[in-house]
Amino acid sequence: MMLEMGRPSAESGALVLLIEDDPQIRRFLRATLPGSNYRLIEAATAQEGLRIVGLQHPDLIILDLGLPDVDGVEVARQLREWTLIPILVLSARDQEHDKIAALDAGADDYLTKPFGTGELLARMRVALRHAVQALPNNEEPVYTLRGLRVDFGYRQVFVDEREIHLTPIEYKLLTVLIKYAGKVVTRDRLLKEVWGPSYTNEIQYLRVYMGHLRQKLEADPTRPQYLLTEAGVGYRLKAD
Ligand code: CA
Repeated sequence: MMLEMGRPSAESGALVLLIEDDPQIRRFLRATLPGSNYRLIEAATAQEGLRIVGLQHPDLIILDLGLPDVDGVEVARQLREWTLIPILVLSARDQEHDKIAALDAGADDYLTKPFGTGELLARMRVALRHAVQALPNNEEPVYTLRGLRVDFGYRQVFVDEREIHLTPIEYKLLTVLIKYAGKVVTRDRLLKEVWGPSYTNEIQYLRVYMGHLRQKLEADPTRPQYLLTEAGVGYRLKAD
C-alpha cells in the first residue's frame, strides 16, 4: 500500500484507490495508471478499502463488486453514508439489474470487464470532473469569508492572499465546516464526514486537527475568528 499523501488535483496526480481482489486487474492498473499521471493505492478486500478511504481520502475509487468479504454494492452504500468521493464500478457483472443496483447504491459510473484502457481512463476523467463540480457550491468553486479564500477546484487555501498548505485531513475538515458555514457542526458529524463512520468516538483526533487548522488559519489561534468552539457540542465556522 502506498502511503504517499499529496496534492490531488482533478486529473493530474489524482490519488486513485482500487478495491479489487483480482491480482491480474490490480497488476494491469498498477502498470497503466502511473503512466497517465495517477497515483494508485490498492485494497484486496472491502474492509481494507473502507479503512483506506477514511485514512487517505482518495480522489476516486475504482470498485469491484465481487469482493471476498463484503459485496461491492454494499461498499458503495456504506461510502455514500459519509463521502462524495466518486466511485467507478469495474465489474464482470454485466446485467442491467446489477448496474442499477450499484448506481442506486451510490456509484457514479459502471464499466464491465473486460474493458478497454482508453475507455477506463476517459471515464475516470469524467468522474473526477464531476466531483469537482459537485463541491459545496456548484456555480462558484471558490469560497471566501473575510480574509479566507478556498479554491475547491485547485484545493488551494489562502489567508490574506498568502497560500496556506493544509494536509488532506485538515483540508477535508475545513471543507466540511464550510459546507455548514455559520451552523454548529457536532463532533459526531465532523468525525463521520472527515474520518468515516467508525471514528465517531475519536474526539481527540478532532481536537488535534482543529488545533492544527487554527494554527494555520487564525491570526491568533487562542482567539479564533473563523473556527469557533461550541462547548460540549462541536465547532462552527463563523460566517458573516
Ligand atoms: Ca472480484
